[in-house]
Amino acid sequence: MGKLIDMVKQKFGRLTVKERASNDGTRARWLCICDCGKELVVCGKKLRTSHTRSCGCYRAEVTCPQQGKANLKHGQSRTKGYARFHSRVREIAEIKQRPSWANMDKIREIYVNRPEGYHVDHIIPLRGKTVSGLHVENNLQYLPALENMKKHNTFKGI
Ligand SMILES: [Zn+2]
Repeated sequence: MGKLIDMVKQKFGRLTVKERASNDGTRARWLCICDCGKELVVCGKKLRTSHTRSCGCYRAEVTCPQQGKANLKHGQSRTKGYARFHSRVREIAEIKQRPSWANMDKIREIYVNRPEGYHVDHIIPLRGKTVSGLHVENNLQYLPALENMKKHNTFKGI
């Protein structure tokens, strides 16, 4: 048996070596954790030669993004594309929840006069689990940014 190179805690691309796995014949193999959270066993040589750099999620994201979307649970929130998509979803929700009688000037005024460090918050969330609020001037309030993030679209009743 050749000299065993200890690779625990080393990082290769998205993979972090967690522990030694059972050999594949005479080849040392390692249990790795991918940045996306998936575990897989990789032959040490493939790691060192950069043959294997992720569980497959990298290829899924880069080569076939459409397919990758279905496979991925984590990691998307860090991409710009996701942020754009997310704000678009929000925009659509706002348009959908805006009745014809909503005072657009008033709503605009609320957004324009927003104090520094505050978010414009929907008192009743537009896409809440149990209730859906309207995108109207009297469903808007200023919330400190931090508090708004904590609230996370939950409505606990008034
Ligand atoms: Zn992965």
